Amino acid sequence: MKFRRQLSLLQVLVILLAAFLTGCQKEPEMTREEFISYLTTQVSSDNLESSVRWLEGMGTRFALAENRRDVAVKIRNRFISMGYFGASLDSFYLEKTIQGVTYKTWQYNVIAPVEGMDDDSITVVGAHYDSYASGVNPFVTAPGANDNASGVAAMMEIARIFRGSRIRPEHTVIFVAFAAEELGLHGSRYQAEKSAASGDKIIMMINYDMISYIANPSANQWYVNIISYDNSSDIRDDAAQMFDEHSTLISYSDNTFNDRSDSYPYYLNGFKALFFHQGDIEGTYHTPGDRVSVCNFEYAREIVKASCALLADKNY
Ligand SMILES: [Zn+2]
Repeated sequence: MKFRRQLSLLQVLVILLAAFLTGCQKEPEMTREEFISYLTTQVSSDNLESSVRWLEGMGTRFALAENRRDVAVKIRNRFISMGYFGASLDSFYLEKTIQGVTYKTWQYNVIAPVEGMDDDSITVVGAHYDSYASGVNPFVTAPGANDNASGVAAMMEIARIFRGSRIRPEHTVIFVAFAAEELGLHGSRYQAEKSAASGDKIIMMINYDMISYIANPSANQWYVNIISYDNSSDIRDDAAQMFDEHSTLISYSDNTFNDRSDSYPYYLNGFKALFFHQGDIEGTYHTPGDRVSVCNFEYAREIVKASCALLADKNY
C-alpha cells in the first residue's frame, strides 16, 4: 500500500517535470510572414460549421424575442471557454414599434478583448448575432445560418486562433457580437458612438455579414466582395492583397450596399471599416430556409483565412 502510494507520487513528479521541460522548449523561430501563414492554416471549416449549427440550434435570435439575453450570455460564455476571461455584455436600451406593438427592450452586445502590448490602438472585429425570418413567427423561428451565424462563426474562429497563438498582439483587438442589426444597425451604432465619444483610437473595423453562401460551388472561380468606404480604400487594397496571397478567392469591391451592415456606423463615426460579404445573392435570405444546408464552409474558410491574415498583419 505504502509502496504503491510512493510510486504514484513519483509518477506525478516525473509527469510534472516532463510538462515543465516541454513548456521550456523554445518554439522554432518563424518569420513574420511564416507566422501569418501559420495562423491562416489554423482556420477550420469544421469549426465554422459547428459554430453555425450551435447558433442555428438556438431556434431564434430575433432581437425582440424573450431569449435575447440568453443568446448573448451563451456567446459570452463561449468566448470565456476559449480563454477570453474578460468577455462581457454591454447593454443598451431599444424601443421598437412593430405592427402597432411597442417593445421596450434591453439589448446586449458581447465584447471580448485581447489587450495589445504597445499602445492604445484598437482593431474591432465584429458580426451581428441577431437574426430575422419573414413568413413565420420570428419570435420562435429565425435560424439565420448564413445571416449571420456565418459572420459570428468567422469572428469566433479568428478569436480562437489568436488565443491559440499564445502571442500577444501589438495592438488591442476587440471582438464584438452585435445585437439588433436587423432592426436598424442598433448594436453597432451604440458601440461605435460610444467609442467615438470616449476617444478610442480605432485603427480599423472589420465586419462579417453573410459569408458562407456560394451559388455554384463547382464554378472555376469563387468571388468575395470587400465592401469599403471612402476613408478605407487603403485597407481595402491591403485586404485584396491578402485574398491574393492567402485564399483561393477573387476579390472585388461593390460598395452599393455599404450602409446595410455594422461597419457603416463605424464609418459614420470616422473610423476606417471593411465589410466582408459573399459574392452571390442567397434566395433564403431572411426566411426560415436560411439554414446550415445553404452554407458552404469551404468557401467561408477562404474568407476567414484572408481576413485572419489581414488582422494578423495589422496587429502583430
Ligand atoms: Zn445580416
